[in-house]
Amino acid sequence: TTMKTNDSGSGDVRLTGISKTYGAFTAVHPLDLTVPQGSFFALLGASGCGKTTTLRMIAGLEEPSSGTVHLGDQDVTALPPYKRPVNTVFQSYALFPHLDIFENVAFGLRRRGIKSVKKQVEDMLELVQLGEQARKKPHQLSGGQQQRVAVARALINHPKVLLLDEPLGALDLKLRRQMQLELKRIQTEVGITFVHVTHDQEEAMTMADTVAVMNGGRVEQLGSPADLYENPHTTFVANFLGTSNLIEAEVDSRSGDDIVLKAGGGKLVLPEARCSAPTTTGGKVLVGVRPEKITLTHADDAGEIPEGRNRITGKIADSSFIGVSTQYVIDSSVCPDFEVYAQNIDRDARLVPGADVVLHWSPGHTFGLDAAQD
Ligand code: ATP
Repeated sequence: TTMKTNDSGSGDVRLTGISKTYGAFTAVHPLDLTVPQGSFFALLGASGCGKTTTLRMIAGLEEPSSGTVHLGDQDVTALPPYKRPVNTVFQSYALFPHLDIFENVAFGLRRRGIKSVKKQVEDMLELVQLGEQARKKPHQLSGGQQQRVAVARALINHPKVLLLDEPLGALDLKLRRQMQLELKRIQTEVGITFVHVTHDQEEAMTMADTVAVMNGGRVEQLGSPADLYENPHTTFVANFLGTSNLIEAEVDSRSGDDIVLKAGGGKLVLPEARCSAPTTTGGKVLVGVRPEKITLTHADDAGEIPEGRNRITGKIADSSFIGVSTQYVIDSSVCPDFEVYAQNIDRDARLVPGADVVLHWSPGHTFGLDAAQD
């Protein structure tokens, strides 16, 4: 489209040693982060982790206590927000209630003294699929449509970077899901860098190419959604992105590229490449596996489980049918302090509370965390 920013590198966001303190409190610890031009980047974390502060430092709405912000080759650290090639969409869309949709979107162009705005505004309304709504007032639109107006109004100025601060926070769940896909489509179409702040892990996973998981003012892990989900490096990331089963184990020996661990009475195998803990013999590792990677087999059929799979035994404590699968809570002596979660798509009628089962999964779906890290 006509929106594409072509000069390469111009939309990189580069944070170098950026930090923010409020008196004695550190909201963001010195942070180095590069968001490549054209990517959809999410800052994900619980309330208070520093994600909004980080976004506001990129926007120029918050002055960093240390460090620099570069947009492409330009050091913008000292520039006020309006001089940065950046626009922000907030959760409160802040549309002008007395102006119609066309004029809301045209506003940025008119303010810059641009006379012929028609084509640009129409293209932009087309992009956000509001071509039909141009002459309506904001209050005549749904929440999702208003949000799209806010996006169009921010994009019309051709920012190099669009910052989105919980932009879908005010929408109900179904509309949120639709808008996630919609924003992703818009980003792909215009090809500019989006930096999106959210506390919703599913939202970050759906939309972003790269996610930075923040905790306590630090980035705990940076990666693609699949990477973070399949291979979390900390218990925080493992638990924040979905449900994980973490089993305490001890390094026993090595076998090729694998580590063999003792857990309860049994053994578990973990590819060394998927372990972020030290792997010296006798060291403690938290062995993780996602519930949907586990197969549940009734103890009577344990003999049919193929060799080479990780396995633990347990008893079904609870089960709940959730349509696509059934979720199980399992008590296991291998992890005496907590329950194991498993999902199963087979509908074995014997898998009811009280049944003895074997949980088994491929070593390749196992990850290892540092038990001593927190
Ligand atoms: P939320 O999703 O709730 O906005 P967040 O992860 O975006 O959370 P920030 O808004 O970045 O978190 O705030 C990080 C921390 O800094 C919080 O503990 C917050 O209370 C604190 N903080 C933010 N602004 C100020 C301020 N002006 N003065 C003092 N503390 C502040």
